[in-house]
Amino acid sequence: MSEPILTLSHLSKSFGALKATDDVSLDLRPGEIHALIGPNGAGKSTLIKEIAGEIRPDSGSITFEGQAIDTLGPAERARLGLARSFQVSSVIPGFNVLQNVMLAVQGASGATFRFFRPALSDRTLTDPALFHIHHAGLGGREAVAASDLAHGERRRLEIAMALAMRPRAFLLDEPMAGMGTEGARDLTAMLADLKAEAPILLVEHDMDAVFALADRISVLVYGRVIATGTVEEIRSNPDVRRSYLGEEA
Ligand code: ADP
Ligand code: MG
Repeated sequence: MSEPILTLSHLSKSFGALKATDDVSLDLRPGEIHALIGPNGAGKSTLIKEIAGEIRPDSGSITFEGQAIDTLGPAERARLGLARSFQVSSVIPGFNVLQNVMLAVQGASGATFRFFRPALSDRTLTDPALFHIHHAGLGGREAVAASDLAHGERRRLEIAMALAMRPRAFLLDEPMAGMGTEGARDLTAMLADLKAEAPILLVEHDMDAVFALADRISVLVYGRVIATGTVEEIRSNPDVRRSYLGEEA
């Protein structure tokens, strides 16, 4: 078994009296999709935010590619290759597809681009941007404004931008949310491809997608991991069925 890319050790986080994260230890290994499931309010988003550096845990530690990242902020973690993608805020609606992906390419090089309008003639930006646009299935849509994209195309743009950041691991919090059946199927296929680029920690409600995609699943209930295992192990785990999958044990 290869070394994990990301390791969480005994993370805990309380909001007042509420333990949102309760002694969570888990890891993400090269080449895998590790799904994180659990009921609403179980602490899944909080955990993703702790990994991304948006929320500081009260205790415990996080190691990314062999390095403790506990003291790093979100921007530094992103620069190391922790990709918190599918964030609507990263897409600039008034920019076209090519410009948006060029911004992500520029961002991956560590430059700041707050006031930057990418020069369409700069091939060090356009070449990789076009590569990622094609890779994400948006070839031919380069000149379309992000605000004019269909929902599924918007997801593809976010994937192209995520790839342009040269991620070492993806943190995805409910990427299927708001998608129709077809969109979810589309994205499921894309995630299966994406894991070849970098392993994915996937929070997802869509159980069809989770069971189709996950190499391992961890189940979070009241901030605690109650089980980690393969799809078959999780499906047949009586505790999981009782507390989450909605079946009488
Ligand atoms: P999930 O993503 O699994 O639905 P969350 O991580 O969003 O769960 O929330 C876990 C629990 O922590 C919930 O009870 C939620 O109300 C609470 N919570 C989340 N963020 C905050 C916050 N910033 N302040 C106080 N309580 C919070
Ligand atoms: Mg959530």
